[in-house]
Amino acid sequence: MYPDSVPELPEVETIARGLDKRVAGDAIESVWIGSRKQPLKSPAGVIASTLEGKRIVRVHRAGKHIVFDLEAAESKAVAAKKSKPGSGVKKRQSEPPRGAAQWVVHLGMTGRMVNCEPAAEIAKHTHLIAKLGSGRELRFVDPRMFGKLSVHRGGFDPGGVEPLEVTEERFVELFRGRKTPIKSALLNQKLLRGVGNIYADESLFRAGIRPRRRAATITREQLGRLFHAVQEVLREAIALGGSSVSDYVNSDGEEGFFQLQHRVYGREGEPCLVCKTEICRVVLAGRSSHYCQKCQK
Ligand SMILES: [Zn+2]
Repeated sequence: MYPDSVPELPEVETIARGLDKRVAGDAIESVWIGSRKQPLKSPAGVIASTLEGKRIVRVHRAGKHIVFDLEAAESKAVAAKKSKPGSGVKKRQSEPPRGAAQWVVHLGMTGRMVNCEPAAEIAKHTHLIAKLGSGRELRFVDPRMFGKLSVHRGGFDPGGVEPLEVTEERFVELFRGRKTPIKSALLNQKLLRGVGNIYADESLFRAGIRPRRRAATITREQLGRLFHAVQEVLREAIALGGSSVSDYVNSDGEEGFFQLQHRVYGREGEPCLVCKTEICRVVLAGRSSHYCQKCQK
């Protein structure tokens, strides 16, 4: 039902950047949490006590998670005293800031983070409202409740490696010799984190590899091509998303994400943009895969 609006890595990256611009430096004064338990991956009381009284240091992406780095908010007087030269021992670099914690949001299929004025109407399916020091609010809205909210003290590890940070050598090592279809391996979040169905299909098309092909049968050269294709597709999508960030961070509307024009995803029966052959669709591990029989081997 929502195949084109499920946030994948580029959308999450764009949302995290948009949130960082809007709320980094702001403090969380109080938190309201709804009665639905499904979205809460940490107990409600723990989420509230972790968020309240914290300053949002920055917002960034890890895999498909939005991560808010938090530290204890301090009064301006204390902060000013601390920053005076010669007052007290200098903090070591490795020392985490006082009260450091992370608030992690996974949008699932229909989750949204809304940054708005308190007077804005509270949308149905709002599961959390954080009142900020600036007077604005940060709300988590999710009709289908596949989204997840959790808090972590002492570091959040989403597992897997970042597709945009991994080296080509490491990428090749992740997939070489695996007996599973390459598409399944690309979607395995324990290997690469954040690559979803759409970008896996688009990357395989650009690399000329069929989704069902076993990873072990793919040559080193083709894996190298796939590495570049994955990064290219994700970077292009992030570049596109950057221009439409205000649409989904600030509004309560239903608008989808501005995405890359798909070359194969969702184009079953339509002509391949390269060779005009009809694009096929196969179901692999319960997910639709789209490819061109002629361009992909
Ligand atoms: Zn083709």
